[in-house]
Amino acid sequence: MPPRWRHILWVIAIAASVALWFVLPATHTSSTPTDNFTYSQFLTAVDAHQVKTVTINPDGAASGGLVNGRNYVTRIPADLAGSSLLDRLEAAKVSITAASSSPSLGSQLLSWLLLLSPFLLLGWLWWRMSRGAGGALRGAMGVGRSRAKVFDAEQPSTTFADVAGYEGAKAEIAEVVDFLHRPDRYRRAGAAAPRGVLMVGPPGTGKTLLARAVAGQAGVPFFSVAGSSFVEMFVGVGAARVRDLFSEARKRAPAIVFVDEIDAIGARRGGSGVMVSNDEREQTLNQLLSEMDGFDPATGIVVLAATNRPEVLDPALLRPGRFDRQVVIPLPNLAERRAILGVHCRDKPLGEDVRLDDVARATPGFSGADLANLANEAAICAVRAGRELLEPADFEEARDRIVLGRREGSNVLLPEEKRAVAVHEAGHAVVAALCSHADPVAKVTILPAGQALGATHQLPLVERHLYGEDYLEDSLAVRLAGRAAEVLELGQGSTGAANDLAEATELAIKMVREFGLSDAVGPIGYPRGGSVFLGSSEPLSSRPFAEATQAAIDEEVARLLRDAERRATSLLDGHRDSLANLVDLLLANETVDGADVYRLVGRSEPEGAGGETMGPHRSAATPAA
Ligand code: ADP
Ligand code: MG
Ligand code: ZN
Repeated sequence: MPPRWRHILWVIAIAASVALWFVLPATHTSSTPTDNFTYSQFLTAVDAHQVKTVTINPDGAASGGLVNGRNYVTRIPADLAGSSLLDRLEAAKVSITAASSSPSLGSQLLSWLLLLSPFLLLGWLWWRMSRGAGGALRGAMGVGRSRAKVFDAEQPSTTFADVAGYEGAKAEIAEVVDFLHRPDRYRRAGAAAPRGVLMVGPPGTGKTLLARAVAGQAGVPFFSVAGSSFVEMFVGVGAARVRDLFSEARKRAPAIVFVDEIDAIGARRGGSGVMVSNDEREQTLNQLLSEMDGFDPATGIVVLAATNRPEVLDPALLRPGRFDRQVVIPLPNLAERRAILGVHCRDKPLGEDVRLDDVARATPGFSGADLANLANEAAICAVRAGRELLEPADFEEARDRIVLGRREGSNVLLPEEKRAVAVHEAGHAVVAALCSHADPVAKVTILPAGQALGATHQLPLVERHLYGEDYLEDSLAVRLAGRAAEVLELGQGSTGAANDLAEATELAIKMVREFGLSDAVGPIGYPRGGSVFLGSSEPLSSRPFAEATQAAIDEEVARLLRDAERRATSLLDGHRDSLANLVDLLLANETVDGADVYRLVGRSEPEGAGGETMGPHRSAATPAA
């Protein structure tokens, strides 16, 4: 923002001008009293030796001072200003000055200029200040102007080295950059440049980062703009901005235009089923479409765009000729997580025994942004503990903090509540340890964090991409085990299982409705519409199947859940000693490692799970409450 005090400049300018007015005599007559003489009065005064000085102008105007201190002005008949008058003046010992002419035009201009100089100077300052921050003035006048930030070739210092992993995506995008550098090579092969590359992936996977790296690496002008900055209150503004952006890019071609979060403008245009149409957005999108069609491939403009909601994009945007290429940027896999951690731990002093491989293994489902956050939290933990080097414990604490929120002190629960939570979590843990297809137990705790009163962490042994029916059924049993243990040990259920039940039901519904895992309903999939990454958004009205099918689905879901509960209960009933021991251990220690759980139930810990105390995350199983 321009500084507010700049308005004071006007006051200063006026004050300075007034001061100059009094100081500069040339622009106004002095304040000495002045008499207006006729020529005769003047002659009389001369003869009476009243006149001290006279200044005679060629045009006959004369002025001067009187002996008594006053001033006078008079006019001398022009042709009389000859020698006789001069003699007479001389005789009266008047000092005579001959002025060249009346104050010349030049000097008059100069004096006015001097008078106005404060205005000019301070006005210029004021203008500079308003301009400095984009200016309120320009905001009002320049409604239709583009707000694209132009990154000069060297401005972002990000390079591909800062983007760990994603070799495929990098290669694809690097190829586009290469095309801008050496169009001839491709033209000779008859290849046309891709006009647009759309990066698609969940939030925090480094799409923006990748685009910045391209800017740093490309060596061509790079225009970066956020999709939302096109959309304004006024219809037509967005379209004008798109037009400006592209005309600027065309001027400086070859160039790259990067539109971040393109879903803000690229969403499907209103058709049937959309209640509110958005004229402004549609116009903006239409403009974007025609601009992307408009430039001829030889000009060398490539549009990069990023979104985490590809399914809401207008189909017209996705057809070849606009965004020819779609690069999917998924959540990082194990090796990529390791590499991303490497990038973010580059400047952190790591202790000898920190193994980033372990950290990467314990963070399935973390995005690049999560990992960056993890590394930072770990460093903060180390500082808090007054250590110079980061220890494995710091990473563990940071991870728990991210997954579970801050751990509360242990004494917020009433004793009987604490016992109920211990029974509940022990139930989860024992069943998870007993089910051979479930993810191994890594850690159980009854320290409340955020919404959860306790948590059981399971850590997948390998990164899974496909879940079998046995895995899903085990995971239903594990989720219902908390409640089963409460009923078994305490004789009643509690509100603590609400989350588990909702999750289990959700999973069961999917199994029946989408995965075709129920004999009664059969191999039918009714996927719920909605975002791939951002949860579902099922329209209220539509249901693609009959009432009877819904009834069958409900029945099957209930059956799956009952079966799972029965299994959990019977497993727990067969291991009541282990359950009781684990409850005692939890009440004593608050946190119990997976290894101890396996020892208590008398099974060997699954290969590879040993010693690992970090649990899994969103992808596999959210911590059971
Ligand atoms: P988005 O995909 O939502 O645009 P960003 O590009 O803004 O995600 O990424 C957010 C942050 O996550 C980056 O600033 C960076 O610190 C970190 N990050 C994400 N992916 C990577 C990666 N592959 N390598 C290094 N850091 C990454
Ligand atoms: Mg982004
Ligand atoms: Zn639970």
